[in-house]
Amino acid sequence: MAIVFKTDRVRGEWTKLHHYNPALCKIVHELSAYLAKQQQNLTITCIYRSQKENNEIYRASKPKHQKVTAHTYYTAVDIRSHGLEAFIPEMLELLNAHNSRNANRTRSGQTAIFHEVNGHGPHFHIQFQEKHAHKLPKHANHS
Ligand SMILES: [Zn+2]
Repeated sequence: MAIVFKTDRVRGEWTKLHHYNPALCKIVHELSAYLAKQQQNLTITCIYRSQKENNEIYRASKPKHQKVTAHTYYTAVDIRSHGLEAFIPEMLELLNAHNSRNANRTRSGQTAIFHEVNGHGPHFHIQFQEKHAHKLPKHANHS
C-alpha cells in the first residue's frame, strides 16, 4: 500500500510539491498511512494545473470568467475516490483536523472536500498552505 500516481506528469509534480509545499505533502502522507491501514492505495490524480487547463475544465471563455484554482499554485492535490467510498467520512475528518492551521482553505472553509467538477467524476480535493512562510512557484514553467 503506497502513494501511486495517475501519470508520470503527476509523479514529477509530486517531487516539485515537496519543494513548494512540504506541509501539503505531509498531509498526503498522513492520509496514505490511514489508507494503508485499510489496505488501500492512495492515487494522486492531479497536482498542478495551468490557468489554460483550468479554463478548459471550467469552460471559461472570457478572461473575467476565469476561475482561479489552488492547483495553479501548488496548494492542492486531487485523490482518486473510486473504491474508497466507505472511507470518505473518516478521510474528511482526518484532513479537516488541519483546518485551523490552513491558510488556504476551500470556499467552504475546509482542507478537504469530496466533490465533482463538470462531469469529471467525483474526487477528493485537498488544499493546504501553512499559515507562515511559503514559496510560490510564480514563474515555474510547466509546459
Ligand atoms: Zn482539485
